[in-house]
Amino acid sequence: MDATTAPATQVATVKLLIGGQFVESKTTEWRDVVNPATQEVLARVPFATQAEVDAAVASAKEAFKTWRKTAIGARARIFLKLQQLIREHMGELAALLTAEQGKTLPDAEGDVFRGLEVVEHAANIGTLQLGELANNVAGGVDTYTLLQPLGVCAGITPFNFPAMIPLWMFPMAIATGNTFVLKPSEQDPMVTMRLCELALEAGIPPGVLNVVHGGEAVVNAICDHQDIKAISFVGSTKVGTHVYHRGIASGKRVQCMMGAKNHAIVMPDANKEQTLNALAGAAFGAAGQRCMAVSVAVLVGEARLWVPDLVAKAKTLKVGAGTEKGVDVGPLVSCAAYERVTGLIERGTADGATLELDGRKPTVPGYEKGNFVGPTIFSGVKPGMTIYDQEIFGPVLCVAGAADIDEAIEMINANPNGNGTAIFTQSGAAARKFQEEIDVGQVGINVPIPVPVPLFSFTGSRGSKLGDLGPYGKQVVLFYTQTKTVTARWFDDSTVAHGVNTTISLK
Ligand code: NAD
Repeated sequence: MDATTAPATQVATVKLLIGGQFVESKTTEWRDVVNPATQEVLARVPFATQAEVDAAVASAKEAFKTWRKTAIGARARIFLKLQQLIREHMGELAALLTAEQGKTLPDAEGDVFRGLEVVEHAANIGTLQLGELANNVAGGVDTYTLLQPLGVCAGITPFNFPAMIPLWMFPMAIATGNTFVLKPSEQDPMVTMRLCELALEAGIPPGVLNVVHGGEAVVNAICDHQDIKAISFVGSTKVGTHVYHRGIASGKRVQCMMGAKNHAIVMPDANKEQTLNALAGAAFGAAGQRCMAVSVAVLVGEARLWVPDLVAKAKTLKVGAGTEKGVDVGPLVSCAAYERVTGLIERGTADGATLELDGRKPTVPGYEKGNFVGPTIFSGVKPGMTIYDQEIFGPVLCVAGAADIDEAIEMINANPNGNGTAIFTQSGAAARKFQEEIDVGQVGINVPIPVPVPLFSFTGSRGSKLGDLGPYGKQVVLFYTQTKTVTARWFDDSTVAHGVNTTISLK
């Protein structure tokens, strides 16, 4: 849905957060936030003006002067408090998330929980941001490093994890001493805003966390702003590539986590029931709107005969509104997403793939207007078909076959994306070969969605990522800081002067 003018008076408006205040935008451009199960308009979100983006950045720049010097313990305690507040409000946050995004309530809790883990990690900032020290690198000389914050950093987030992904970004940026400007997805900004309210309640000072809403123009304003030092982006490959190049061109650090096509190899020795459960959950959960969803199953050898079992398993999943008990697959986020996914299913048949299970037009009593598509399975899928080459981002599983593990690995390595992959097998040798030879940044062994916990970083690779360092974990501490190396010698009065040294060596 395109942005329209003037907010409807009876519908709540989503606020901007500038200088510690939640304020109404003065823009004339607004967009509806819509419940994807009912089409009810939940709120209207502003597309911020250039002046509002400038005000958010100016407030972050001012706040940086004191925040950068705030004691580590004081920073850490804010995130200890925030994790407690998020736990206390889990039910409310999940309900808000389900209403605007569509995923089931248990999955919405999972979305919040995976972000909460990063908040807990941010509370460990004392040990994460330690520098190094080498004693006596030359006579009386020590060298040590300081990991210093950069200044104002920005985050741009997608619709599919409106709690987890903002929480990947602002807690670690702020814990390392930076101030932040967040641009949430305009499709589901409400749960993100509630998390920001909790962050302020936890003690984040005015100006340290700011939020602007909008689309292309606001994102471009962030990319170009000379007072922003680093951008974290998560979203589609098309937009991420644009953000990366535009941000780099204006001298920023940029990390972009982007689109995917995640393959799972199924070896014939895999535990069949566990594998079918894992594939169905990872392909159709969250209506396939996960960047780490399994979207291609590569059945190897005799596992190629498992397609009917996969179809039978997929048929056990219940499609419906995320608020209803027992539902496995909620609606797609928008009417536009529904049109795109159903269009691609049509295209798959036209391209010659076999439609084994057609999830279009499921019956969902009471929710006739919802953007529902049920589990859909194609077999005989090959590179060159649109359903293989494009990210569908819906509950559609493409099944391909391979004679052996080498052929399966070759297929995956030839695909440009590198977000995630998995193998299902009982063979340690096969698993180890896969882990060694596969050119994908996140690997699951009998684990279908191998998103690392925050002790590690998110390490999608190749076409799924631009920039060197990933979100959260140790890598993001380096992303959000400048390493300063200090080489120091202290003299006491009795030290004998060595005279002038015109060489590079430390005498
Ligand atoms: P999107 O690229 O459409 O939007 C992401 C952000 O960019 C939003 O904040 C949006 O407002 C902004 N944006 C949209 N169009 C823009 C434009 N033309 N110019 C500048 N900014 C623009 O992505 P989405 O549809 O919200 O999210 C789904 C995509 O995100 C999928 O491709 C998915 O794979 C990817 N994703 C990747 C990861 C990962 O970690 N690799 C995680 C989650 C989602």
